[in-house]
Amino acid sequence: MATQAIWSGRRVTVTGGSGFLGGHLVKRLHTLGAKVFVPRSASYNLVRLEDCLRCLLEHPCDLLIHAAAFYGGIGINQTHPGSIYYTNLVMGANIMEAARLAKVSKVVNIGTACSYPGYLEGELKEEDLWAGPCHASVVNYGLTKKMLAVQGLAYRKQYGLDSIHLILTNLYGPGDSYNPERSHVVAALIRKFVEAEMHKADSVEVWGTGQPIREFIEVGDCAEGILLAAERYDDPELPLNIGTGVGTSIRQLTELIHELSGFKGRVVWNADKPDGAAKKVLDITRMTHVLDGWTPPTSLREGLARTIAWYRAHKAQADAKW
Ligand code: GDP
Repeated sequence: MATQAIWSGRRVTVTGGSGFLGGHLVKRLHTLGAKVFVPRSASYNLVRLEDCLRCLLEHPCDLLIHAAAFYGGIGINQTHPGSIYYTNLVMGANIMEAARLAKVSKVVNIGTACSYPGYLEGELKEEDLWAGPCHASVVNYGLTKKMLAVQGLAYRKQYGLDSIHLILTNLYGPGDSYNPERSHVVAALIRKFVEAEMHKADSVEVWGTGQPIREFIEVGDCAEGILLAAERYDDPELPLNIGTGVGTSIRQLTELIHELSGFKGRVVWNADKPDGAAKKVLDITRMTHVLDGWTPPTSLREGLARTIAWYRAHKAQADAKW
């Protein structure tokens, strides 16, 4: 568990704090007694350097967690590659530049497993970040976050800015995007199966072949892992993976959501839709070592059951979110 004494009274700015992961980070930080500031886009457009700097000067912080990102599942990476690229690249570069100008003492950058080589065998180890090209389906997002890791190293060397880079796996949970254009597979399937059950439909369409392997972390667990890493991780050279280390095929995931949703119809696989990377699972050896044996406590079944219950209870609100 994150340490109250470390966070109590600490001034923490969380970019993306009104978003999915950021929202869970802010909630956890509040319970730990931190003084949290969340920049809202109406006041601070983080794609503009002057706004980033103004934000950090108007709201001085002891720690900056850069969790803002414009991202989504395999669908939006195909329809919005340009805006995903530009927004994340420029926002990341500006946040770091502003952090060093405002003399922020520590930055935690939130990265993504999409930055890893997309065609490696086995689990993804921190040492392998540069061992090959990103998968084509997510390169425009993955590379921008990888540049943030480069910037972190460069800024430490030249300006002494203290930053760490955390690499997250696929998140799911309450507050995710359930919009079919943007959603990742878990949110997409929860919505499809819950709606199919409500309308007593005959079938649900699932994309791809079902063969790809992914790793899924419940968002609250991920927020806890990030705060633990912020407390305990300080290696400038390597990023740190935050995940479960457990691979699940899309077919297994589909069967689980099918069962938990109570839907009685059948599944239709649409192999015309892209599979994406064959396997994306983090190696969590360093994470468990650095975080003193911590691993995400929520099992996939438990997390999915809770998320389905949350989705049913907040359906209108969840569906309205982009
Ligand atoms: P990725 O991890 O970057 O590939 O992103 P996603 O979470 O969007 O997709 C993971 C896998 O789930 C891919 O193989 C998709 O083809 C598959 N998948 C199956 N059905 C769906 C769906 O309805 N929406 C999404 N986004 N992915 C789906």
